[in-house]
Order: sequence, then structure tokens, then C-alpha cells
Amino acid sequence: MILRSRAIWAGRGRVIGDAAVRVRGDRITDVGGCRELPPDDGEPVVDIGESIIFPAFVNAHCHLEYSGLAGELSCDGSFADWLGQMVSIKRSLTHDDHEAAWQAGADMLLRTGCGTVVNIESLPGLYERMAPETPLQVCPFTELIGYHPEDVSALVDLAKRELTANAPLALNAGLSAHAPYTVTPEALNVLAMLADEHSLSTTIHLAESDDEWEMFTDGTGSLYETMEALGRLMDDCGMGTPVQHLAKSGGFAKKTLVVHANRLTEADVELLRKADADVVHCPRSCAWFGHGGFDYDRLAKAGLNICLGTDSLASIGGGRNAAALDMFAEMQEFSRRQPSVEYEDILQMATTNGAKAMRLGNEIGQIRDGFKADMAMIPLDGTLSQVPEMILHHRGPVKMLMLAGRRVFSMDDSIVD
Ligand SMILES: [Zn+2]
Repeated sequence: MILRSRAIWAGRGRVIGDAAVRVRGDRITDVGGCRELPPDDGEPVVDIGESIIFPAFVNAHCHLEYSGLAGELSCDGSFADWLGQMVSIKRSLTHDDHEAAWQAGADMLLRTGCGTVVNIESLPGLYERMAPETPLQVCPFTELIGYHPEDVSALVDLAKRELTANAPLALNAGLSAHAPYTVTPEALNVLAMLADEHSLSTTIHLAESDDEWEMFTDGTGSLYETMEALGRLMDDCGMGTPVQHLAKSGGFAKKTLVVHANRLTEADVELLRKADADVVHCPRSCAWFGHGGFDYDRLAKAGLNICLGTDSLASIGGGRNAAALDMFAEMQEFSRRQPSVEYEDILQMATTNGAKAMRLGNEIGQIRDGFKADMAMIPLDGTLSQVPEMILHHRGPVKMLMLAGRRVFSMDDSIVD
């Protein structure tokens, strides 16, 4: 099949006017100008007209099962208080609630042009049940929480069980030690070794809040008190930054997606660089909590791969019906806060950088020969030079989303078939 469009944004510096892309099976086999890409005999041609085709987004951090919690939590400045609200609200949710929320979250991402997501799976068995229910390419990262020394073997058992079930169903399945304050240093080390042994990616919430910073650097603060009251041994606190703590624990795997990284020293940035870590920034979550300090320029200068994630609807504010998982909204928030970063760099964060972080950099995140045919389409309303800006500022659902060569969402059912 040949798909024709007024414009394609194929990746940084690759805007093509009067463009065409050939799809065979689940792959892109050609991309270029319409004239260079005539159809073969009998090959169907679909012309979507005044539109832009671009790579489906790659969301590098999400919690789909919290998609029912929009507007349910408050944030009065204390991260520890928010965590307490999460723990109690989760207790009130049933399996059905979680399944419905997971599905609703997946639908929100598809409608807004996202094709692949790193999802933190906090409920054993949930991904295996839900994966067949959505065309969204969900990469399940099993969440592991255990702050008592005796929890280590149970965490390893859970990780192995979930990986056995999830890996055959996913593009990439991995492990997510929740955070250094909820996982013992020993477990951080063991889980990183387990990941490396099986060539798995890992992800961890790290250096997110001031509360976490105080706990590890000073051995004080509300998170310190909360975790101490829960029976966590606190003898690893007051000894350095969260990043130093993870490094000292041996908690960096060969492939670690560090989520948030809001508070870092120069030495922390160097540690992240040495660990070859990828950084996931969640702009709306960061803004809602009022976490200051995410320093894009410093991380970019250090050569770190920076991606975008949506985090969850429990952590971006907005009303019960107003908030949605939406990579356009994340890019817009980022661009508002970092007006000097070029539109194409932000688009890269939402596409190919996320793919690279998941070791899928040669599969998804660009429109290129041999890549998966994962493409989103929106109306074109301007000139070719405005294409990156038009993608970034798009609001609402996309016109169409194609994943692995198949249309999975459309605003207008008459376009294809
Ligand atoms: Zn998160």
C-alpha cells in the first residue's frame, strides 16, 4: 500500500513535501516524494490529502492502571503526603477498576497518536490479561517494591514470574524497582544483576522530589519519617544524593531509564553519564508537584538521551474529566517551560529518543525503510517549514493512527479500506 500526504515529518531535519510512504505488511519499505514512489501494478494508493504523517509517539513512562484517578488526589507540596493518598486510594480499588482504567488509559494514548509505551505494571497478571485487548504496543515493566531486608527473594520470584508471562507478548519487557526509598539497597543490586543477566531494561523513579532528596542527603524530612514509620531500615540515609545512593547500591543495570531526575548535582550528572542511563522527563507531573530543577540543558550537554513520559493521571492534576494521557500535552508543557529548545528536539524526545531508551531505536520512532509502520496523522494547516511546530501544537485526537501497518484509530472511517 502507498500512503500519500501533503507532508511527512520522518525525523529530525527530514520534512518531505508531497510525500509518500510504502507499507508492506507491518513495515515501511520506502519513503520519499510522491513522484519517486509510483505504485506497483495493482498496489492500492490512499491519499490522505492536506495532512502530516509523523512517527507514532513513544511514551517512556506511564502507569495505565491509574487512569481512573484523574482529579482524585491533591498535592499540597508534600510528596510524602501524595504517596500516602496513593497507598490508601489503591486499597479501595478492585481488579475491575484497575482493568477498566488500564484500558481507558490505553485508548487515550491511541487517540493522541502514541504507539508504544513503557508501562509500570504494579499488579501481577494485569498486563497478561490486558495485552490482547489493545493494539497499543505496551512494554510492561514489572514494579517491584520491598523495603524490608527479607523481601529480596520474593521480589526476584515475582520479577521472574512476570517476565516469563509478559516477555512473549511484548516488544520489550523489563523491571522497575519503584524507587530507592521503597526498595532496599540489596534488592536494587540483585534486580539490576537479574536484568543484566537476561539483557533486560530497567526503570526507576529517581531524584524526583525534595522529600526524597532530604531523606538521602540529610536523613530528615517527611518521606524519611513516613518510611521509618513503615519499618524501613534507614541506615542508608543521610549519606549522599539519591543518584549516589543508587550507584553505591549497584542498582544501575546496563540499561536503566531514570525517571524524573529533577534534583541532581554535577557529580550526579556524571554518574548518570557513566552508567549510560537514559532520562525520562514527565513535564506535566513535574509541574503539578512543583518539583523544580529539571535541567534539560545540563543533561543534553552531558550527552544523555532524554525522553518524554506522561506519568499517570494521579499525578498531573486537572479535573476528573479534563485530564488525559496525551503526549502532545506533554510536549506543549515542556515547550512552555523550555522555550529555547527547538521543536524538532522536542519531537525527537517524544519519538526516537524513547525508542532508543527501550533498545528499539532501529524499529520504531522514525519513518524510515525497514522500520515498523507506526505512524500518526494530523491535518496540515500551514507551510512545510511549520510542520514540526504544527505537530507539537496539535490538540485533541489525531486524524488517524497506524500501528504495525494497520489502522488502529481513525477520526474518519472513510479514509481507508
Ligand atoms: Zn511514575
